[in-house]
Amino acid sequence: MKLLENPEAMRNLSENWRSEGLVVGLVPTMGALHEGHLSLIRRARAACDRVVVSIFVNPTQFGRGEDFETYSRPFERDSALLREEGCDVIFAPTVETMYGGSSLDLSPSGERVYVEAGGLGEIWEGEARPGHMRGVATVVTMLLNIARPHRAYFGEKDYQQLKVIERLVRNLFFGIEIVPCPTVREPDGLAMSSRNVNLSPEERRAATVLQRALSAAANLKQQGESSVADLVAAMREVYDTEPLVSVQYAAVVNADTLAPLNSLEGGPARAIIAARVGETRLIDNIKL
Ligand code: AMP
Repeated sequence: MKLLENPEAMRNLSENWRSEGLVVGLVPTMGALHEGHLSLIRRARAACDRVVVSIFVNPTQFGRGEDFETYSRPFERDSALLREEGCDVIFAPTVETMYGGSSLDLSPSGERVYVEAGGLGEIWEGEARPGHMRGVATVVTMLLNIARPHRAYFGEKDYQQLKVIERLVRNLFFGIEIVPCPTVREPDGLAMSSRNVNLSPEERRAATVLQRALSAAANLKQQGESSVADLVAAMREVYDTEPLVSVQYAAVVNADTLAPLNSLEGGPARAIIAARVGETRLIDNIKL
């Protein structure tokens, strides 16, 4: 397994593989790897000749006052896990190589070019975290241009991010296949996340309420309920029982556009939820 920090070296290696006819897969991550990440890597390993895993805590997708500085960075542990999974290259650039001196100049009049995520980047997570989806769209564009994969793997855990990236790749003609991968959960249902380690034992117990609320909506749908208001009320009934959890949004949305739905008759739907559990912000979603 190789460790590369330099974008040019990464691209040259990938171009060489491509010229040999090898299929290249990319799994972008921010490190602090868990079974959710490993499931993406295994999917890539099974379908591609070469697997690149990027580890980059991207400053432009964190807002002011968010956890960029304190985000967990256990590089040695990550690297050992990736070796076990048969990853070919870890691409771990520095903020300076990715963004240069003007790294965090996000102002519209600044020197850097950013990729806007459009309307899909303004709602839900975009509204709760202004600039977040722009940071995501920008860094994913950079990583795809650097690693030049045929396929890139993303988790449904970050459902809105997945939809933004699918649209980015389609709208800007990247010619790369985006492979969505199902959410991996702890035995008690909590979606795995690098941020779960920040939860106190009481918060960790309370955090399962996100998935329990989503399941309540999904079960109701399964029983034939088609009123969105009733599904949303069922979610609220569950999360209202948990005083440690402060829900920011819980909604039933169109699975592609993420527009709020009035009725389930309008095509595929998804229930989405975001909450603060103490200082930690968690998100989750479920197919309806
Ligand atoms: P992150 O390191 O949090 O930026 O995540 C890197 C990739 O792993 C993203 O595509 C995430 O959606 C995906 N991911 C994170 N947690 C999970 C999970 N529990 N199950 C499946 N994929 C996940």
